[in-house]
Amino acid sequence: MKIGFIGLGNMGGPMAANLAKAGHEVLGFDMAEVHIEGVALARTAAEAATDAQVVITMLPNGQILRHVAAEIIPAMTKGAAFLDCSTVDVDSAREVARQADLAGLLPVDAPVSGGVGGAAAGTLTFMAGGSKAAFAMAAPLFDVMGQKAVHCGTSGAGQAAKICNNMILGVTMIATCEAFALADKLGLDRDRMFDVVSTSSGYSWSMNAYCPAAGVGPNSPADNDYKPGFAAELMLKDLRLSQQAAAGSDADTPMGKLAEALYTQFVEHEGGLGKDFSAMLPRFEERGRS
Ligand code: NAD
Repeated sequence: MKIGFIGLGNMGGPMAANLAKAGHEVLGFDMAEVHIEGVALARTAAEAATDAQVVITMLPNGQILRHVAAEIIPAMTKGAAFLDCSTVDVDSAREVARQADLAGLLPVDAPVSGGVGGAAAGTLTFMAGGSKAAFAMAAPLFDVMGQKAVHCGTSGAGQAAKICNNMILGVTMIATCEAFALADKLGLDRDRMFDVVSTSSGYSWSMNAYCPAAGVGPNSPADNDYKPGFAAELMLKDLRLSQQAAAGSDADTPMGKLAEALYTQFVEHEGGLGKDFSAMLPRFEERGRS
């Protein structure tokens, strides 16, 4: 397949490389200077999009997505699929899909879970919003870049699934970290705490797969001085998106709101910027001492 790939950063770079490795013809574009194995580079986003059967975007936010979409939609061939894999607000996803639809394209919002490791290994999970025809066109590419793709509904449904998932993740990570800090105060050994909770009703991905305590449970960013992994500021971005969506749809999300407030404080005032989002645990330890 002839693929245009725009946004070749930490996630987009390895995703594009995997598509090229699978035999697709990939023409990429990024604002920054990049070199991606097997990927030819265009001079503009519009050039990368011209003649492509599928255009994939993997960009930082909704504003940049809208900007890039305005440039590439007129350059794309009618009937081509426009696959946005960035994490953006639901409104931007729906608006870009509306414009793509009007231009005779097949839009899919398909944010991912699995991080940089999943992007490199080709084991991402895609959550997709769009028509059946658009999803069917994207499906073989999901198979190359990931291990699972769920068709969640119409345009915007993929972003809705992503921000709901990450709201749960932010809340459970905070709960796991504060529980470890409390267990410390109560004199409970951390390995015993992990042993019990990871096999009891308090278990979660945050505890079982990404344990925030160093030297406990599986290998995780806690064992690497909290280098991200998934940076605290990216978690904050996703929590803000969930609260924006909650306000826009009149949903009551008090735990999500509190998680957003805690990550704002952590990132903006407590040295969390540039650390993994599980560094909430040393943050609770620190505050427990004061
Ligand atoms: P990144 O900053 O590494 O990559 C974004 C790339 O887009 C950069 O290379 C940047 O130069 C490029 N870019 C910005 N504006 C552009 C423009 N106008 N035209 C062309 N290129 C432009 O970010 P990332 O970690 O690859 O994340 C990309 C998206 O994936 C984000 O929406 C993020 O929330 C989401 N995401 C990231 C992770 C993760 O673990 N990093 C996990 C899941 C989802």
